[in-house]
Amino acid sequence: MHFSFLMTFWTSLIYILPHSGIAQKLIPDSLANSNPTQKIIFLNEQAQKQQTGESAELYYNKAMELASSNNYDSLKLVTQYKRTNFYYQQGLYKKVFEEVNTLDSLARFYNNLFYQFRSHTIRANSFKMTAEENKALSEYEKAVEITKTIGDSLYIADAYNNVGDAYMYLEEFEKSKKYFLLALNIYEQLKVPETEKYVTYKNLSRVSDNLEETEFYLDKAFQIVKNEKNPKKLALFYLTKGDALMTKEYYAESITAFQESYRLADSIDYAFVKTIAAGGWGIANTELGNYDEAILKLREALTYEQPSPKNKLNFMQNLAKAYEGKLDFKSAYAILKEGNVLNDSINVSEANAKYAEFDAKFKTELKDKEITKQQLEITRQKNVRNKLIFYSVVILLIALGLFQWRSNKQKRKKIAVEAALQKEQEINDLRTKFLGNIAHEIRTPLTLVTGNLNLALENLENPKKAKKNIDTALENSKRITADANEILELLRFENSSAQVKKETILLDETLKRIIFSFSSLVEMKQIALNYKSEIPKTLFAEIDIEKTEKIINNLLSNAIKYSPSNTEIIIKSKIENGKLIISVTDFGDGIHYDETEKIFERFYQSVRNTTVGGIGIGLSLSRELAEAMGGSLTVNSEWKKGSTFTFTVPISEAETLTVASRKVINPETISSFEATEKTKSSQHSKILIVEDNPEMVNYLEEILSPMHQCEVAFDGEEALQKINSTNFDLITSDIMMPKMDGFQLREALNQSEAFKNIPFILLSAKTLEEDKIKGFKLGIDDYIVKPFNKNELIARINNLLANKSARQTYQIKNPDLLSTSESSDQKLLKKVEEFILENIDNEEFKIQELAESVGYSQRQFTRILKQYTGMTPVKFILEIRLQKAYQHLQHKTFFTLSEVRYHVGISSSAYFNKKFKERFGINPSDLLS
Ligand code: ADP
Repeated sequence: MHFSFLMTFWTSLIYILPHSGIAQKLIPDSLANSNPTQKIIFLNEQAQKQQTGESAELYYNKAMELASSNNYDSLKLVTQYKRTNFYYQQGLYKKVFEEVNTLDSLARFYNNLFYQFRSHTIRANSFKMTAEENKALSEYEKAVEITKTIGDSLYIADAYNNVGDAYMYLEEFEKSKKYFLLALNIYEQLKVPETEKYVTYKNLSRVSDNLEETEFYLDKAFQIVKNEKNPKKLALFYLTKGDALMTKEYYAESITAFQESYRLADSIDYAFVKTIAAGGWGIANTELGNYDEAILKLREALTYEQPSPKNKLNFMQNLAKAYEGKLDFKSAYAILKEGNVLNDSINVSEANAKYAEFDAKFKTELKDKEITKQQLEITRQKNVRNKLIFYSVVILLIALGLFQWRSNKQKRKKIAVEAALQKEQEINDLRTKFLGNIAHEIRTPLTLVTGNLNLALENLENPKKAKKNIDTALENSKRITADANEILELLRFENSSAQVKKETILLDETLKRIIFSFSSLVEMKQIALNYKSEIPKTLFAEIDIEKTEKIINNLLSNAIKYSPSNTEIIIKSKIENGKLIISVTDFGDGIHYDETEKIFERFYQSVRNTTVGGIGIGLSLSRELAEAMGGSLTVNSEWKKGSTFTFTVPISEAETLTVASRKVINPETISSFEATEKTKSSQHSKILIVEDNPEMVNYLEEILSPMHQCEVAFDGEEALQKINSTNFDLITSDIMMPKMDGFQLREALNQSEAFKNIPFILLSAKTLEEDKIKGFKLGIDDYIVKPFNKNELIARINNLLANKSARQTYQIKNPDLLSTSESSDQKLLKKVEEFILENIDNEEFKIQELAESVGYSQRQFTRILKQYTGMTPVKFILEIRLQKAYQHLQHKTFFTLSEVRYHVGISSSAYFNKKFKERFGINPSDLLS
């Protein structure tokens, strides 16, 4: 792999030399070790910056070559698209037609519909620019067909708009309208914001059938500009309005619009619009036969420097027409002659024909100068005929002028569309980069994990060395877990609307816990962590602490990541105007000013510090979280000096009370909760491991086989077969597996009376909350997230096994009890659980009360509970207390263990720790850190 890459690198260097003439280096040394994707992106960016096609070609060729040698199909397409677009932007349409053919064939070869769509669109745009409207239309129509296959409604709508435009140029208003309406229909279905329909409304006003309809769409467009309060845009709108009305021959109405446009443009010195508005005003007056006013306004329009040659020509032609209307052929002739000089290649022939006509007319007039009044009258009559011919020529010219005018507008629209495409392209590029980052981020620590574990194996005789290897492996596996969590978090955020969950917490202490959890990390890097808090110690605040913690964690780990050793990180917190403000300052490299906003974009990583690692989503996620809470996240940074990130979030203060004033709990009452029986030995139970990853299977077997008899099934289907032929005491299953996944397996087991009570644990890499809920709904007994703590798994399995065996023993001893209908007992259990949860913080809570709450005597109640859970009431209450404590700790609802204990009604810390460890195999404090 490496060898062949080097080969292509050298051959490409040799290849570029003769072209460039000098030994120019296309890829700087700083990128020498980057991956090909990064290089290709860099080359394409450079190409874009080149002034000449020749130098841009060097970069594009090199990018293409890298993409080809690495078989990066999509990067090949991207490069070819950028190359084509480069020429389009330079206005080199001949080159565009060449390059777009290559783009099209590549897109067809790779069966990439998206780039086929782009090929047709860019070709059509170029045809439009070279005034080949019919060809443009046919290309736009092809683009429509492709967008339909792609199935993305917004693309389809854009493609329809393009076809509508093309028909509008061709003056086929009916067809044009049909397409604009199709586009509008899609926008409406997709509920796109009104502002995005502006252009479509404007276009529709031009191609409508009658005044009413034209005014309807003009009004729609007007409602949009009106809200924007942008006088420039408003002036432009009236210009469009005038144009639309004039196109429909509503000259008087169009004059009013042009006047409004003129007035607005004049008030803000918008000379460009003022000129055209004056021109339009004049043209419409010509049409109405108000020649004097027409001449005045057209003359005014022509005195400005602003109009483009084509507009100027248009005005001149109308001015000539006005003079002609006043039978002042001399002036008409002079104007047209001037206009002819101005005329460029586009309408040379028409202008020449017209010129010849006027020339003839003028000469005739001279000849007839001596003729009598009667003769003059005859000449006039003759002129009426000439006038008709003249009108048809002039109307043709007006159409041409209008076409040019629209063409200019189209050009601006096209630039906007191109900018949007460009933006999208950038996002695609970032995604590609992101995938590269992930591969890198995960592969590297993975290599270290496996490598170090192998080394540890080799170093077995030297425990010190082996331990070091294992520590490194562990450290790296933590890194992978952190990345995976970050990505899952992002997915979760994208899928949900990021609900804000506010809790009341003791603010200062909670912040301290979060910040000082970084103590060991900063110590390792020899960085001083300096926290300055101005928050009252006793202040309870309502805040979404889970999101806040994620943001602080991200800012702090970035600050540590980008700080050199022996520097300081300063964190300040305060409350101002109902807002919590936290700033994190580091004295690292800082962020270059051109990147200070980009770093908040998803997948973005600085181009300047590529070696540090990371996947570029931390900050974007943090900002989104901050905004979801109604807050903000900003940065102030100086390149090479350091950065300050400031996170602001609104909080509401809860009552201020001291912890000491809370309920005092009597430690004596513990005894009543002491479990009455010892956990039964679960030695040699039969466990079925359902898991498709062989390494995971090995690992689970290694952990569980010293105590249990293990069997393995590699997917749900195989598991079902095994369960049918063997009695298992417990099943652990992965979620994602081929053929039949963990949920499906559980569902299948639910169908059978014999199997549905086998304890079932889901082991999964997914941490998504929804999965957990789905699992429990299906009757799963426990759920453990990978990577898990070995002791936690063992304890949870043992606990489930112990309950199961207690249940069985009891059922065998009391067979008569089994007659009770199961569903009503399930309901009873649910009620019991709810009652306990309602009273969970009451340490003195009595079993008697519990039994009464469900209408049983204490003895009856004990029997039923035993039968279905295998637990005594005392143990059952304890189980629920512990489960709740686990939840609190996992979700970090409280900041200290004593708070958690208080909330689940266990006051003795020793008792709590002991029971918790027994039940979950880990210390409660393990979950706090
Ligand atoms: P990651 O750190 O995973 O790359 P982030 O979204 O957290 O992703 O950060 C994006 C980019 O912002 C980083 O690649 C880095 O270049 C820059 N950055 C973030 N924090 C700092 C900081 N404290 N100092 C300098 N650069 C930073």
